[in-house]
Amino acid sequence: MASLNETSCRTCDTLFGTGWVEGWGGADTPLGTGWVEACANYHQRSPSPTGPLSPPHLYNPLHDSDPPAESGDVHVGLGMHRDELLRHVPRPVDVPRGRRRVSCQRAGADRSGGQRHRRRAEDARRDAVLPQHSKLVCPGDDGDGLIISTQYLNRIVSADPMHLEMTVEGGATLKELIGAAAEAGMALPYAPYWWGLTVGGMLSTGAHGSSLRGKGSALHEYVVAMRIVAPAPAAEGYAKVRQLGPGHPDLDAAKVSLGVLGIISQVTLKLQPLFKRSVTFAKYGDADLADRAVTFGNQHEFADMAWYPGQGKVIYRIDDRVPDNVPGNGVFNFVGFRSTATLLLVTNRLAEEGLEATGNAGGRCQYSRLTTSAIAIDGYGLTNNGLLFTGYPVVGFQNKIQSSGGCLDGPHDALLTACPWDPRVRGEFFHQTTVSIPLSEAKDFIQDVQKLRDLNAEAFCGVELYNGILMRYVKSSSAYLGKQDDCLDFDITYYRSHDPAVPRLYEDVLEEVEQMALLKYGGMPHWARTGTSRSTA
Ligand SMILES: Cc1cc2nc3c(=O)[nH]c(=O)nc-3n(C[C@H](O)[C@H](O)[C@H](O)COP(=O)(O)OP(=O)(O)OC[C@H]3O[C@@H](n4cnc5c(N)ncnc54)[C@H](O)[C@@H]3O)c2cc1C
Repeated sequence: MASLNETSCRTCDTLFGTGWVEGWGGADTPLGTGWVEACANYHQRSPSPTGPLSPPHLYNPLHDSDPPAESGDVHVGLGMHRDELLRHVPRPVDVPRGRRRVSCQRAGADRSGGQRHRRRAEDARRDAVLPQHSKLVCPGDDGDGLIISTQYLNRIVSADPMHLEMTVEGGATLKELIGAAAEAGMALPYAPYWWGLTVGGMLSTGAHGSSLRGKGSALHEYVVAMRIVAPAPAAEGYAKVRQLGPGHPDLDAAKVSLGVLGIISQVTLKLQPLFKRSVTFAKYGDADLADRAVTFGNQHEFADMAWYPGQGKVIYRIDDRVPDNVPGNGVFNFVGFRSTATLLLVTNRLAEEGLEATGNAGGRCQYSRLTTSAIAIDGYGLTNNGLLFTGYPVVGFQNKIQSSGGCLDGPHDALLTACPWDPRVRGEFFHQTTVSIPLSEAKDFIQDVQKLRDLNAEAFCGVELYNGILMRYVKSSSAYLGKQDDCLDFDITYYRSHDPAVPRLYEDVLEEVEQMALLKYGGMPHWARTGTSRSTA
């Protein structure tokens, strides 16, 4: 084939795994047999109709009575050919053959035309731009690195309501985890608020929700076992699968490990019986915020606060467990994560750009008051029955309240609607700084920010356009890269120009806040946002 070259083969390897040549040896290969044969030559082996080799049996604490000998590590065969080795790395190559074909159809969707295929292509593009399927990069010499997608490493391996445990693969999303747990009558007690994140991504970055109860709000606190595919020296066969069971001395290192120790392929989590909770958002002035923030987290299990410093207001989340017989079938589909009309996203962005360009800080404050009133009337996305918001409290099952991500399942409408930050439309574009400050320091930090605010309240209206400063509770952890103290975590989100040379309105004030958080109060940035102490979600 004229178009076939080494790069094409490498692309196929990256997309489908190096085993794809064998897996697609048959004549039904959507890419055509020419590709298969030529790529087989490139790999210096013949296409085989039998499909890829089976991976080795790996120890599973839930199903295997005995751990493997001695170290607890399962070594992938010594001296294996690189391609064989990679076949055991959890990549699309390890998913069932039928699924791999779906990947290929996605890749060829544009060529075949037709609505179904266009939809698949749209799915694929959505997958590519929205952060729900992790991609890991293994750098190599001379461009010989690998990108490993965990998109299809997303099985729910087992759910055990008797022992309140569930084992999932590293690419399973929070949504999949929550859904499968609820089906088995279980719940993850605390979680990040956006359910498009993967288990591997959340663990790698110490992702959390908000709570000071039990072990706290971070997902890694509920990990009881993990399986990691880690690099190894040549003498050990280049890669080994490490099973870290309960009490394993390395578990505290691996639970939060920034993706640098290896690929998280399986995780066993300790869950709870499915329960109900009752949510009320209540708005108060911020005069006593500094004192209240310190105690509020101990008063309500799922407490958080959204602070609107420019308006001098705080939305307190009064959110607690209730008995299952309390009536209510509420759902939280947070407005900020819903499919939004592209026209509205573009209009909002243009308005924000206009206010920034003209230095109209007062206009930005009016705009923030307008948008915050609008989402408050809508209950921030809460509904009492899945359809309508009729008032507080909203009572519902944990799996319907804890996280959301409506836009992930939005309509396939040629981008008439999109997630608000979808880069394919010119909608939201922002910086987000996330810093955890020890709870013991939080009062002083808030008071310092209030002093700055009192000098010029208008300087803070920008963060209000992004739902204010979200303040959440995270407990200290035994994980080496977890929090060292009980903390209050501050999410500060604000306008970002598409031109990196253009400053935002009152940039100096927000930078002062960030510097205070990090330097004066010993704040720790979220591991997902450590680039330059700020990044873009
Ligand atoms: C809309 C949105 C809302 C968010 N809300 C919250 C929130 O409420 N609370 C919170 O704490 N955080 C939140 N975050 C941040 C989020 O938790 C982190 O960015 C998280 O890492 C993203 O998960 P991901 O699956 O997209 O991972 P990616 O961004 O793909 O990966 C993040 C890191 O993890 C590594 N990694 C991913 N999978 C694996 C694996 N299987 N094995 C080893 N390493 C792996 C990657 O290499 C990378 O270093 C939010 C992010 C977004 C975009």
